Amino acid sequence: MYRAPVKDMLFVLNDVIGAGALAQHPRYAEFSIELAESVLAEAGRFAAEVLDPLNRSGDTEGAHWTPDGVRMPKGFREAYQALVEGGWTQLAIDTALGGQGMPLALSTAFEEICCAANMAFTLCPLLARGAIEALATTGSEEQRRVYLPKLVSGVWSGTMNLTEPQAGSDLALIRTRAEPRGDHYRLFGQKIFITYGDHDMAENIVHLVLARIDGAPPGIKGISLFIVPKRLPRADGSPGEPNDLRCASIEHKLGIHASPTCVMAFGDKEGAIGYLVGEANRGLEIMFIMMNAARLGVGIQGVGQGERALQQALEWARTRVQGRLAGSPDPAPVPIIQHPDVRRMLLGMKATVESLRALALYTAMQLDLAHAAGDAKARAAALARGELLIPIVKAWSTEQGIEVASTGLQVHGGMGYVEETGIAQTFRDVRITAIYEGTTAIQANDLIGRKLARDEGAAMRALLDEASAELAALGGGDATVRHVAAAAQEAVGLLRTTTEQLMTLQAASVPAALAVAVPYLKLCGCVLGGWLAARAAARAAGRLAAGDAEADFLRGKLQSARFYADQILPQARGWAEICRGGGASVVESAAELL
Ligand SMILES: Cc1cc2nc3c(=O)[nH]c(=O)nc-3n(C[C@H](O)[C@H](O)[C@H](O)COP(=O)(O)OP(=O)(O)OC[C@H]3O[C@@H](n4cnc5c(N)ncnc54)[C@H](O)[C@@H]3O)c2cc1C
Repeated sequence: MYRAPVKDMLFVLNDVIGAGALAQHPRYAEFSIELAESVLAEAGRFAAEVLDPLNRSGDTEGAHWTPDGVRMPKGFREAYQALVEGGWTQLAIDTALGGQGMPLALSTAFEEICCAANMAFTLCPLLARGAIEALATTGSEEQRRVYLPKLVSGVWSGTMNLTEPQAGSDLALIRTRAEPRGDHYRLFGQKIFITYGDHDMAENIVHLVLARIDGAPPGIKGISLFIVPKRLPRADGSPGEPNDLRCASIEHKLGIHASPTCVMAFGDKEGAIGYLVGEANRGLEIMFIMMNAARLGVGIQGVGQGERALQQALEWARTRVQGRLAGSPDPAPVPIIQHPDVRRMLLGMKATVESLRALALYTAMQLDLAHAAGDAKARAAALARGELLIPIVKAWSTEQGIEVASTGLQVHGGMGYVEETGIAQTFRDVRITAIYEGTTAIQANDLIGRKLARDEGAAMRALLDEASAELAALGGGDATVRHVAAAAQEAVGLLRTTTEQLMTLQAASVPAALAVAVPYLKLCGCVLGGWLAARAAARAAGRLAAGDAEADFLRGKLQSARFYADQILPQARGWAEICRGGGASVVESAAELL
């Protein structure tokens, strides 16, 4: 049974990233760590009582396609109703739009809880948030009036219709057509893999669809964004006539069975009525506006599923009895958590999840500061840092979330491979996170091709300078903190050198740089996680020295940080070595010899 790690989240928010400081900015004046505590505790109860109990049944029952629409598994409609009535869809939405205006740092922690409890369910409100952002930033007054209140309250849900059979990572290949008809357009085409493209939980579904207006230029410069509602809103705002669109089928897939992944047919008859959002041919730019929050949202899915796997593995390892204690004369079998290798796996899972959570919430806070900081320079610096970190959080958290789930399955032995224990579902569910919302390779290409290149590494250098200065000052009297800080400092140096080498390589040969882009991204995730692990260790040691009552919890943080320094950070040397010399073996390889 999943339990929200509220104490761990508050430790990150308060001790590691200092999110309480957000309250200094008028935009987040009402935010406080105490408020975060009560929100997360309440979210934890909602997750435990409503979402988690449907995780398994949703997986076995799955969503069902019928000619009249997709039917959700038992209990999902009621859970969605409870989500809406609890006001949970509005947490991070701007108060001007009717939301609660909480910082992304808090709503990201909230999303981790929901994703851990039931990822298949949580995808529905996550997608609506993307639609809200797109309309809030670029929608017309009329579009904002008709759609935003319903989306913000959750009465209507939202989707992102990008992918087509021939257009996945490469959206330049989109073919869905939009014919101008006065004040609206008629859309014709097929989209695939559309999450929650149809379901029976909300009153209406607002599809945001990328399509090409007839006569538009080829490639990404000719793509526009449209609102295409499932049912056309009446003058009074209620859902009216059905639009010319339907869910033709849903996919049978590895995991997230309760999340309907739909093939959407637009314009079987006279064409689906769509309304242009923003300017014609600027659709991809608008999508990019939403990308930061959406990619952070998927990164946190990796963290949440990692936490779920950790909790499952810990429970198993404490109760499964097998094998005698190494080095002990006692022949009696012991719980497997006593075996060094099982503890290695569990420590690795815990240290990884904690570092991923810290990096994700740190990144969320940069995006908060990008909105809220007092002067323009501070806002720009926070945005540059947030944008630099987004592809790292998305790809590293999801790849590591998969790794953690796999290790959790290993802890279960043979029982991990059968469905009964539940860890197999976690392993299946988390796998998609490294694929949708831009695969790991697409994130790595973004990291080196856009984020590093656009300011010639300035944002990365500023981050590494800051980390290095902080690590140099850490330590005090605590030996573990000094040890972790020294290991992290060495790793930061490695990342600095590798970044400079990579930028030189990129200037000389883009393919050679792209051949090591993913290893470079992993190096970044591994090293930045080490920096925050050292910071966490220092805060924990400080609180312990001050006689804090949470001694075991804090000693656990020091233990994780030490493991991170000894068994995770050394991997950075491998990634750095690959970045230095590994590209040539790819670039000089021949596809036909594979
Ligand atoms: C369960 C599920 C839910 C989804 N939900 C949605 C949704 O709601 N809305 C939506 O629009 N889409 C959705 N998608 C689609 C998803 O975003 C795409 O599957 C994803 O973007 C990858 O595209 P693709 O499947 O065509 O793979 P491809 O683009 O064919 O990629 C195949 C492989 O090639 C690699 N590759 C491709 N191009 C490059 C490159 N330039 N450089 C390096 N490597 C490259 C990829 O990394 C990958 O490993 C969903 C998919 C699934 C499976």
